[in-house]
Amino acid sequence: MTDTPYSGPGVLLRIGELFLKRGNRHLFFQALLANVQRALKGRDDIRISHAMGRIYIEGASDEDLLRRLRWVFGLTSISPGIFCDPDIDVITPIAVDLARTHPGGPETRFRVAARRADKTFPLNSGQIGAHVGGQIHLATGFRVDLEQPDLSVGVEVGLKRTFIWARQLPGGGGLPVGTAGKVALLLSGGLDSPVAGHMLQKRGVELTGIYFHAAPYTSDGAKEKVIALARILAARQRRFQLLVVPFAPVQEALRDIVDPTWLVLLYRRAMVRIAEMIARGEGISCLATGESVGQVASQTLANIATVEDAAALLVLRPVIAMDKAEIIRIARDIDTYETSILPHDDCCTLFTPRHPQTRGRADLAQRYEARLPHLDQLLQTAAETAERILL
Ligand code: ATP
Ligand code: MG
Repeated sequence: MTDTPYSGPGVLLRIGELFLKRGNRHLFFQALLANVQRALKGRDDIRISHAMGRIYIEGASDEDLLRRLRWVFGLTSISPGIFCDPDIDVITPIAVDLARTHPGGPETRFRVAARRADKTFPLNSGQIGAHVGGQIHLATGFRVDLEQPDLSVGVEVGLKRTFIWARQLPGGGGLPVGTAGKVALLLSGGLDSPVAGHMLQKRGVELTGIYFHAAPYTSDGAKEKVIALARILAARQRRFQLLVVPFAPVQEALRDIVDPTWLVLLYRRAMVRIAEMIARGEGISCLATGESVGQVASQTLANIATVEDAAALLVLRPVIAMDKAEIIRIARDIDTYETSILPHDDCCTLFTPRHPQTRGRADLAQRYEARLPHLDQLLQTAAETAERILL
């Protein structure tokens, strides 16, 4: 151990909402720290510490580091910068150098955001701002604008470390994953369900994925695609289980007893019931899907209600009222888009006509299901024989 504070590149992580949750503050902070550590696993060149409700990373500030931190939920913003000695003659040239990296021309408007926690530091925050700001202006020609700056340069003189930054990147927002309980996400290979899962993770939820695989009718490629999507979500939480349910036997049984226009609805009801059996076994009391009103013929309000009727647990639908364009924007942002748009076979189109029922009714669905006395047994078997993949 040495008392000399670290000097060199680093990153400052700012924390949001979790401090509103006063009672659980400590737990939230510990969860966040663990998530930051996991996101940076393998980066042996860095050291993570924290003080006064902020997290500091010493040792590097490169793009790989910043990319890994992008989806750590609970962070409001991320500033790469430089740690240095608490000495205004050391601080000032570093701040000037960082300001110089700003891509804008001489018309750039800037401000210095100075904070001083160390009251023994000879200048107060106003004096730090004036001094550093003056030097930046001289060196770059940038004009001061406290209201609407193009560039903010931060000078933070803390009790143990001084940090200078000139970039402020968005954090993931939300709450640390693992602080809001668990949800079983019905994860298909499409665009919507991974986005739905991401939105729940953002609210602190830890996901378990459930995928209904119609082998041999659907290919291994379809399954690999879902695994690839699950992996992207898995990188943002402690551990991620994906359960792959053998769904074809259920589909074959249903095919033989109903008007084919009702098949999709009965598949969905069966999915929800199997998912519930699995969820309960895992101690999870909530499901989620990527359903969105009216997006496809199978997702009319009447049909969603008909699926809901089969569920006893709470079913969350985070993208229910979102436009496809919004969902695509998020999918791009969270890196699931390229995988989701790969062509794949969809188990829901198996044995189904082009124009499915749009006016679902729970009573009729139940009447169809009553024609299969061993349906419960079939669902149970599917749940019990699900393949468990730990990602
Ligand atoms: P997605 O983009 O998520 O596939 P979608 O718009 O294609 O959604 P549907 O295929 O109608 O919609 O499915 C609606 C929801 O039902 C999905 O978002 C998903 O939660 C669930 N779902 C559908 N098929 C499967 C499957 N094979 N395995 C797991 N969940 C599924
Ligand atoms: Mg789909």
